[in-house]
Amino acid sequence: MTHVNDTIAATSTPPGRGGIGIVRLSGPEAKTIVEGMVRLRRPLAPGRARVAEIFEVGAESILDEAVVTWFAAPNSYTSEDVIEIAAHGSPVLLRTLLKQCIALGARLAEPGEFTERAFLSGRLDLTQAEAVQGLIDATTLQQARTAAQQMGGALSRQISPVKRDLIQLIAALEAGIDFAEDDLDLMDDLEIARQLKAIATPLAALEKSFAYGKVLRDGFRLAVVGRPNAGKSSLFNRLVGHQRAIVTAQAGTTRDTVSERVDIGGIPVELVDTAGLRKELAEGGMLDEAEAIGVARSREAMADADVLLLVVAADGMDGGMLHSDDQAVMAGAAGRRLIVALNKIDLVGDQRTPMSLEAKFIATSALNDTGVEDLRGAILEGLRASSGTTDSITVTSARQQDAIAEALKAVRSAQEGFDGSMPHEMLLLDLHEALGALDRLTGATHTEDILGVIFGSFCIGK
Ligand code: GDP
Ligand code: ZN
Repeated sequence: MTHVNDTIAATSTPPGRGGIGIVRLSGPEAKTIVEGMVRLRRPLAPGRARVAEIFEVGAESILDEAVVTWFAAPNSYTSEDVIEIAAHGSPVLLRTLLKQCIALGARLAEPGEFTERAFLSGRLDLTQAEAVQGLIDATTLQQARTAAQQMGGALSRQISPVKRDLIQLIAALEAGIDFAEDDLDLMDDLEIARQLKAIATPLAALEKSFAYGKVLRDGFRLAVVGRPNAGKSSLFNRLVGHQRAIVTAQAGTTRDTVSERVDIGGIPVELVDTAGLRKELAEGGMLDEAEAIGVARSREAMADADVLLLVVAADGMDGGMLHSDDQAVMAGAAGRRLIVALNKIDLVGDQRTPMSLEAKFIATSALNDTGVEDLRGAILEGLRASSGTTDSITVTSARQQDAIAEALKAVRSAQEGFDGSMPHEMLLLDLHEALGALDRLTGATHTEDILGVIFGSFCIGK
């Protein structure tokens, strides 16, 4: 995939019709090629947008009037000469433009090749390059913010001091080995242990941040569970923001599961409304077949969910005690995040607030739309708490996670070996392995295979 030094071209705007369509070129011939197919009123100048008539090469007919911008090397996205032709967004016109670029000596860019060139020229490291695609793929504002931070080098900045410490420790240990015969004790054991810890700690924090990063990227599933008539579907609709699930006064209406993707605080959430779990139903006897299927689906939805929202009807609480069905849900939630909505709060006074409810609960009224914002807040907070991270999520891809995990594993192995008074040569093996993993993370020692994996997932023109 690496044929640097030729000139590449691609349509950088999405396929289809639009007000504007951009053909982008990068490489040493970009300027000559473009000058061969446009008539400029004023010559191209670095960083200046120029109006130009585009004509059909070989014929005199004008195809379009466009804006041509030259980003002169090295001050461009790829560090090469980059030219953008912003024409009208007609697929047939853009295809012709691209064909002409090729005819005049450009090569069709491969997916992600512009960004790959930015990486190869050292303008971006690998984590930043990955963030470009993350930003393009973002579906919520929070995802976009995270990608933008990483594109700006947020992850690299956290990695580089760790890497520097690692290199220093390696250098000191190697010097120690070289001079061992002279009894030159360059670093005492306590200091080595301290340094290993200083390297492991930030790596462990980064590794943890992936859990939240993953949630940001892929979202999570929240199942709304509880007894029939508690107001699950009503709350679901409030969270979704429009009528979707069927609400009726008769228990057991939502027979199947209904799901909807919503954005809660910038995180994509798959909300699943369930039929409701009734012990007597699940145990058979009193329910028809459709209801039985609904209950089974509810159990599946519960098992699949990352977070459970248990809806309890405040007016149905017997002396402030939770129904045994609800207690069973709470017990079954073990390990997973559980949020309890005490719904129909409009029907009861504050004095009926249950004392026995140990879990944190949010008082809601789906009827009056009260407490729904608090509920969103609790969902978001719960998510952050369970992944142990604040807003600064930096590790967003599985590739980054793998590299960090590997580096951490190697450092931990060095720590263990060190406690067991392993010779420094062996420690060094681990430390070099950790360094290699961090190098792969930012692309310091890039190999064809990781490049292929990363840039191959890009769309053409990026
Ligand atoms: P589900 O079976 O748990 O999904 O419950 P639904 O959402 O279908 O609601 C059952 C009944 O309770 C319906 O008649 C709703 O209008 C009513 N309901 C739901 N939420 C509230 C609430 O907060 N206050 C009051 N007073 N009624 C509610
Ligand atoms: Zn329902």
